[in-house]
Amino acid sequence: MSRIPRIVILGAGYGGIVTAIRLQKELNYNEADVTLVNKHDYHYITTHLHMPAAGTDNPENARVNILKLIDEFKIDFVKSTVVQIRPQEKKVILEEGTLSYDYLVVGLGGEPETFGIPGLKEYALSIRSINSVRFIREHIEYQFARFKREPNRLDYLTFIVGGAGFTGIEFIGEITDRIPKLCKEYDVDPSLVKVYNVEAAPTALPGFDPELVEYAMNVLQNKGVTFKIATAIKECTPDGVILATGEEIKAATVVWTGGIRGNHMLDDAGFETMRGRIKVDENLRAPGHDNVYVLGDCSLVFSPEGRPYPPTAQISIQQADICAHNLVASIRGEQLKSFTYESKGTVASLGRGEAIGIVGSRKVKGGMAAIMKKVIDMRYLYIIGGIPLVLKKGRF
Ligand code: FAD
Ligand code: NAD
Repeated sequence: MSRIPRIVILGAGYGGIVTAIRLQKELNYNEADVTLVNKHDYHYITTHLHMPAAGTDNPENARVNILKLIDEFKIDFVKSTVVQIRPQEKKVILEEGTLSYDYLVVGLGGEPETFGIPGLKEYALSIRSINSVRFIREHIEYQFARFKREPNRLDYLTFIVGGAGFTGIEFIGEITDRIPKLCKEYDVDPSLVKVYNVEAAPTALPGFDPELVEYAMNVLQNKGVTFKIATAIKECTPDGVILATGEEIKAATVVWTGGIRGNHMLDDAGFETMRGRIKVDENLRAPGHDNVYVLGDCSLVFSPEGRPYPPTAQISIQQADICAHNLVASIRGEQLKSFTYESKGTVASLGRGEAIGIVGSRKVKGGMAAIMKKVIDMRYLYIIGGIPLVLKKGRF
């Protein structure tokens, strides 16, 4: 390869943006042409999206202009939508044109997993982008306005969240903070509003510490949530949901948080995937494609015990560090590094001033956990934008 190598990064989410930021620090001028492609001109902080979705925060606070994060002398930013990856030709087809690459980084994020459940794609909402959460926020408020015109329609005031994983629980924590304010604003009797969290597994937050799960459920039940645990959603209809028990709950709002899968474009490109995610090699490359790195929700990494790690921002950021190192090492003919995930713990918010988590080996809950959650959020802002971004977007 005598000309300058071309690196194309697809997606400016956690994996993509951190890879770009690391590369701009590590690479010398003219060592590589780096192009970052993203469908919007902003990076969104996915881990904050449950707040603007419920309307407890402004969507503006969950996004950052990409040009404020990258050095345009080192990284070309292309605002476009990727429509196809052609690994055999080393090309990516965008809505506006085609890019050729020597090295590809795929960080296109995940898509809602609907498990083929009828009606979910058509009638349920999901928390996945700035545009989707703007819609959910407006939709929720609109139900209160509608109810004032048709006061016999209690389904307008019924909110169903499908799935009690971390996304479902964090969203429930926010929506139960928002509802009392909407009741006040629209003169609605709060006792008429119903919030259900439906979970197929025998517990909320399956696999998480049982004591903390119980704490979380108590907090949320006290905020008015009805849990339906060990109860799968079988179908979503224009009128609500039908449960595996045969029960129908009528609701004008169903938010699906039942899990995510990888990006459909990886299947379309002919990569071998498991639920749309590529099981990457130890250096984070797609098997059989030494020049294709796959990060974040598009990738699948197994623990030494052989269990897949859950797709998180935390793992995406750590992968980005190794990916950037390996790209630079490949270009310089140096040794690649293997990826080893180091979990720093998990902290999940339950709404204002309440959270649960495990940090290191320590369990935390309540106000202390809520502070830790803010610290984690601010650490990320610091990683991508330093102190100025912490001051601008940090939620103190
Ligand atoms: P993403 O961050 O999803 O980014 C993908 C990027 O690709 C986006 O910028 C998108 O616009 C772009 N893109 C997608 N398709 C195209 C296309 N066709 N063309 C061009 N661009 C495209 N994880 C944690 O570790 N801690 C948390 O507290 C936490 N909280 C969460 C809260 C919520 C509400 C949700 C939904 C998730 C949370 N997660 C959390 C999980 C975490 O957000 C994801 O694992 C993480 O965002 C994955 O990063 P990524 O880089 O793979 O993709
Ligand atoms: P998830 O896969 O973790 O949870 C989905 C839940 O939906 C599961 O509990 C599952 O049993 C349930 N479910 C599936 N089918 C169902 C059905 N038919 N009816 C009812 N329930 C059903 O998905 P998620 O919560 O969107 O999280 C995605 C990833 O993001 C995870 O890796 C998670 O750890 C991460 N995340 C982390 C945080 C945090 O650390 N604070 C917050 C949000 C998300």
